[in-house]
Amino acid sequence: MAVKNYYEILGVSKSATKDEIKRAYRRLAKEWHPDVNPDPRAEEQFKLINEAYHVLSDDEKRAQYDRILESGDERKYRDFMEYIQEFLQEVWKGIRRKPGPRKGEDIRLRLELSLEEAAFGCEKSIEYERWVDCPQCEGKGYLGESIEKETCHACEGTGRRVSGIFDFPRPCSVCRGRGYLIKNSCSLCAGRGRVARLSTVKVSIPPGTDEGDVLKVKGFGHTGERGGEPGDLYLRVVLKPHPVFRKIGKDLHREVFISFPLAVLGGVVKVKTLSGEELEVFLQPGVECGSTKTIPGMGFPSSGSAGNLVLTFRIEVPKDPSGKIKKLLMKLAKELGEKGVDTEPHLMEKIRRAIQSVL
Ligand SMILES: [Zn+2]
Ligand SMILES: [Zn+2]
Repeated sequence: MAVKNYYEILGVSKSATKDEIKRAYRRLAKEWHPDVNPDPRAEEQFKLINEAYHVLSDDEKRAQYDRILESGDERKYRDFMEYIQEFLQEVWKGIRRKPGPRKGEDIRLRLELSLEEAAFGCEKSIEYERWVDCPQCEGKGYLGESIEKETCHACEGTGRRVSGIFDFPRPCSVCRGRGYLIKNSCSLCAGRGRVARLSTVKVSIPPGTDEGDVLKVKGFGHTGERGGEPGDLYLRVVLKPHPVFRKIGKDLHREVFISFPLAVLGGVVKVKTLSGEELEVFLQPGVECGSTKTIPGMGFPSSGSAGNLVLTFRIEVPKDPSGKIKKLLMKLAKELGEKGVDTEPHLMEKIRRAIQSVL
C-alpha cells in the first residue's frame, strides 16, 4: 500500500495551517461532491478528499502521518490506515450517492389471526402507515417545471459539516447532505417528495398459514424516491389465543365434558372440530377424568399432513341437581358403599329453610 500524499490531494503545502487545509477541503469537497459532480470518479475522489482532511485536520494524526510520509514506510502506513479505518467508515456512511432513483424501504408488520382464519384461509384488510408519493408535487419534491437550487450556507455547498466530538465531517443536517437547498421546495412534503399516509391493503391468507409465517405483499412498502420502485410489505403471522382450542405444533387440543354415566358405561359423545364439524367419538366404558383420545388428521391443517385432534375428557358435575337426581345418586352412593355422602341438608341450608318458614 503506497503512502498517499494527503497534501497533494488537498493541494496544500506541507506547512499549511489548519485554516488553509479547511479552506482547501471545502473548495474541493464542493467541487467533487457526488451529488453535483457527474464525473464517475466523483465519489472516489470525494472519499479521498475526506480521508485527507480527516487526517490533516487532527494534530495528533497529522504528526503521525507526517512521520510515515517522511519515511515512506508502507507497513507503518497500513497500520495507520487500520487505526483510522473506523472513523473513515463513518465518513463513507455519510456520503450520499448521486441522486437517482432509490427503492422504497420495506415495511414489517405483525398480523394477528384467529385459529380459524389461519387454518382455513381468509381475506384480511390491513390498515397501516406508509410513505406515498406526495400528491402536491407528484413525488418530485419541488413545484413547477424544474428544480431551483440554492447553495446550502450551513455547509457552504459541501454537504458535510464538522460537528460534535468527532473531528471529521458528517452529513449536513440543514441540506441533508445534498449541499444545496431547493428554492421551489414543495410545502406539503418539505421537499422529500413523500408523505406519510394511512394505507389499506387487502391480503388473501392461504389455508394452513401458521404462527411465524411471513407473507410478502410486493410493492406495498414505502414508495421509492425519485421514481424508484416501492419497497415490499412483510406480514409476520401471530396466532391469537382460542377460547376452545389450544394449538401445540400442528395438533389441536381441547377439553370435552362428559357425564358420569357416560364415563362409566361408555358410548358416544359429539365433539366439534375447529371447522365446526361435529364428530361422533366412541368411548369405551370407564373413561378416567383427564384421560385423552387422539383423532388423527383432525388437527391443524397444513401443506403437509394435518395435525391431530387431542381430546382431554373431564367429568361433568351437575351444580344444581334436581331432587330426583339427588335421590338416584344417594341410592347409587349407598350401592357403592359410599359413607361420606351428606344425606341430610347442610346446616346453612337448614337455617335458610328455618328463616323462610318464619317469614
Ligand atoms: Zn411534495
Ligand atoms: Zn448543507
